[in-house]
Amino acid sequence: MDLALIRKSMVDDQLRNRGIKDRRVLEAFLKVERHKFVPEDLLDNAYADFPLPIGEKQTISQPYIVALMTEKLELKGTERVLEIGTGSGYQAAILAELVKQVYTIERFDALAKQAQATLLAMGYQNIKITVGDGTLGWPEEAPFERIIITAATPRVPQPLFEQLAEGGKMILPLGDFAGQVLTLVEKKNGQPHTQDICGCVFVPLVGKFGQ
Ligand code: SAM
Repeated sequence: MDLALIRKSMVDDQLRNRGIKDRRVLEAFLKVERHKFVPEDLLDNAYADFPLPIGEKQTISQPYIVALMTEKLELKGTERVLEIGTGSGYQAAILAELVKQVYTIERFDALAKQAQATLLAMGYQNIKITVGDGTLGWPEEAPFERIIITAATPRVPQPLFEQLAEGGKMILPLGDFAGQVLTLVEKKNGQPHTQDICGCVFVPLVGKFGQ
């Protein structure tokens, strides 16, 4: 199985063909070995066009959704980014290719440990992982120029909006089990400006300021 070739097909068929254009984002998806983030028994589906289970009833998101969320953040390379929902660590690895520093929070200890091991083995030096309720954010490291929430919540968790830098962008699935919309939130003069992107399906953001 030529995984580099399969990865290239994923980038061409699932990302480029659906409108992902940011050259740096496409390069990151070509580089990061997604198969290292999925359970061994699902290796054959590592580059498939759907989410996969990663344990604890959680998922690694569909490649296109990871790419879309990443592209909408319009990353230049200098940013400090906060991710809520480390999961497998795949989104964190993609971000680490594109920004200065990634901070990521996961509520399940087992998932955080596994992601940490995977990311260390791959040599990432610019990702910090912690275990806890991500809806509280990471106040010691705030403010963040970008925040990405990879689990669904009916409203923007207030601590996270507070920890978003002025002029910063946050992307998240807003909604619950009945329906969710991928939403981009920009902070301008301290106020949220929101833009709906598309419908989506994510596991719930479970925490004090989530579901
Ligand atoms: N970004 C992940 C990846 O690349 O594999 C996929 C994330 S998965 C769709 C959502 C993750 O959010 C799950 O691992 C879940 O445990 C986590 N999560 C849910 N609520 C959370 C919270 N309050 N704080 C931190 N993590 C949370």
